[in-house]
Amino acid sequence: MCAFLYERGADIVGVASTETWAREDMVPEAYWPDSLWTPTKSVIVIGLQMPLPVVETTPSVQHRDLYNACNHSLDSLAFDVSRWLNRRGFASLPLSRDGYANIHIVKKKPGAAFPHIFAAYYAGLGLIGINNTILTREYGPRVRFVSVFTEAKLSPDYMMKDTLCIRCGACSELCPAHALKISKQELRNESVSVARYDRQACTEWARLLTQRGCYPCGICIKVCPVGRDRTLYGREKALPHYRKELTSLVFDAKDPVHRQWNHIRNHGSSLFDETVTRKDTLQSVFKKIRNGK
Ligand code: SF4
Ligand code: SF4
Repeated sequence: MCAFLYERGADIVGVASTETWAREDMVPEAYWPDSLWTPTKSVIVIGLQMPLPVVETTPSVQHRDLYNACNHSLDSLAFDVSRWLNRRGFASLPLSRDGYANIHIVKKKPGAAFPHIFAAYYAGLGLIGINNTILTREYGPRVRFVSVFTEAKLSPDYMMKDTLCIRCGACSELCPAHALKISKQELRNESVSVARYDRQACTEWARLLTQRGCYPCGICIKVCPVGRDRTLYGREKALPHYRKELTSLVFDAKDPVHRQWNHIRNHGSSLFDETVTRKDTLQSVFKKIRNGK
């Protein structure tokens, strides 16, 4: 089954036993796989990477298109492996990647029918970071997941036990909607394992970006220093750059990286339309958009 998925382009694959949901008891029972489909014995979780240089342009239409391509590929892989298992006599079904119709519905009814993030954690693919997402060794949080329920009793993968999140706080510090709340003291003493997530603030920001054609935000994903993909792209020490992005001029022609990102952002979406002057910073643009100016 794993070979089938890797041959078709999966980047990472893991398997969780349904018993893990009861044992770990982190998710309400209504969201357990066997609550949603009683015959489920195993959950297969498939991950696809989001290449860092495109994620770095967020918010942009290029990032939106990559996000959509990734989601469609995940749904296709889940559909294909479900049918592959069905043909071998193991009843299986895919759970779609996002599972919501539009951003307005997410605002009114937040949360998916099945949280893939816990499935990925239980399937040994990564650990939950301060930013409330799964961090993987390979791609940090720049990876998206889909799940397949099957009645096949597959051998489960071990859950990761060590730490990947270095508690740097960049995700919280650079969130434009201030939706990830954690104090410096909490980061230091490790009393809190994830930032308090203001879903409404994040979703409202997503709604504003959707209007401008450059949803999703994903800045908390972009700035996370975890992941071997940073080495691949030579972007191990990018944090000062991300910080500067929020405090330096948007049109800083002397900065080649900012120039590249803003070139992408200036095409195909209306992120900067009617809002930007040469005195603006990216943070002030975000503020204007939030305030509807
Ligand atoms: S997606 Fe954007 S708004 Fe939402 S928590 Fe992450 S950085 Fe903040
Ligand atoms: S940005 Fe830093 S604190 Fe946030 S999830 Fe990544 S490593 Fe953890």
